[in-house]
Amino acid sequence: MIVMKFGGSSVANAERIRHVAGIVKSQTAEKPVLVLSAMGDTTDHLLAAAELALTDGKVSVGAIEELHRNTLRDLGLEDPGEVEPLLAELSSLLTGISLIKELSGKTKDYLVSFGERLSVRIAAAYLNSIGVKARAMDAWDAGFLSDANFTAAEIDPESWDRIPKALTPLLEQGVLPVVTGFIAKNRQGNITTLGRGGSDLSATMIAAAMQAAEVQVWKDVDGILTADPRLVKAAKPVETVTYEEAAELAYFGAQVLHPRAMQPCIRTGTTVRVKNSYNPGAPGTRIIGTPEKKAGPVRAITSRKNVTLVDIVSTRMLGQYGFLAEVFAAFAAHKLSVDMVASSEVSISLTLDAVHDLGKLKKDLSRIADVEIKAGKAIVTIIGDVRRSSEILQRAFAVCVLLGLQVQMVSQGASKVNISFIVDDIQAGEVVTALHRCFFEPLE
Ligand code: ASP
Ligand code: MG
Repeated sequence: MIVMKFGGSSVANAERIRHVAGIVKSQTAEKPVLVLSAMGDTTDHLLAAAELALTDGKVSVGAIEELHRNTLRDLGLEDPGEVEPLLAELSSLLTGISLIKELSGKTKDYLVSFGERLSVRIAAAYLNSIGVKARAMDAWDAGFLSDANFTAAEIDPESWDRIPKALTPLLEQGVLPVVTGFIAKNRQGNITTLGRGGSDLSATMIAAAMQAAEVQVWKDVDGILTADPRLVKAAKPVETVTYEEAAELAYFGAQVLHPRAMQPCIRTGTTVRVKNSYNPGAPGTRIIGTPEKKAGPVRAITSRKNVTLVDIVSTRMLGQYGFLAEVFAAFAAHKLSVDMVASSEVSISLTLDAVHDLGKLKKDLSRIADVEIKAGKAIVTIIGDVRRSSEILQRAFAVCVLLGLQVQMVSQGASKVNISFIVDDIQAGEVVTALHRCFFEPLE
């Protein structure tokens, strides 16, 4: 069997749901389990409605009701019997919030759960109407159990057994389960959520627990690309990446799965395939355990702009201990999250996102070292094969020499699939383009 996951924008309206249903119908022979997010931005709209109920005492669900009712109508469907009751329950809940003026994590999770519960019912009804025997299922009926950490719950290990127990009989009867992403229930029976964007994790968890042939995560791009297509015209889909490479790409801003979503599949070695719903025939990108033999040294090149470089130099560091601890303590005290780090005997350089006012940090650090703060930098990251890092470094720096670039800091992550360096913000586009040419565009 396989798992197919579609996010909010893929099921945003009747037209998109029809399209998704077509893709699913063409793969019924593979025995798919479908995992869906809430329609469009419904999760955001639910949270906004909750805020409004809380602060202004207003219950405003009109737009959410309309979206779901219109979608049913545009799909030529009657209410399968559960959409209206769910909408009524949602409206009562918002009235409750407006009266008691309280919005705990527990209530929030209960509230946002309506998005996914509505979308699976509409999609399942539509699939049935086009001759695909489908059943809408809430995650808890599909075997999901979580802890009670509302808004960011962890999946309980018992789910590994519960999920196949719940879903296998349906697949055997030729029924296609349409399961809510994102949500679960704890042992007390309260609804929880796995954190924003959590339906990828729901899908990979089902795939791993069911030992699926693969889990397809459908997006609106041709898989993972070798570079940001807005920067590099020749960017193209990567055929395969390892779980580790995909995780690095996610941290560096590539539009892929959340690293947490890959965890269940790493455990079982289940293939994750990123597919394009606008181009279903394209193979997409496969995320797998071990790198393919024929793959080149580099998978992708990313860049992140608007980064600040902090240079800290201390003569005290030579042969001393505790200096790095003091430096990091200062960052922790100011709640600043450090991204890249490089150090020598007497100096340490690190980077931060440029959203912070660093005046106070500088003052604190100046007690123990000379500090220089340089804004307007960019991190360029090469994600590639661990075992070929020397080759990658050599070719990358040859490119920098050709461009006459001064590389200001380099670090190779401990996972070693990530080589990052700092250049000036304005040079980022040029560097990424040139590196892409070097690694991905063979000379004619
Ligand atoms: N609907 C949820 C969200 O918007 C979960 C998801 O889309 O993955 O965060
Ligand atoms: Mg969403």
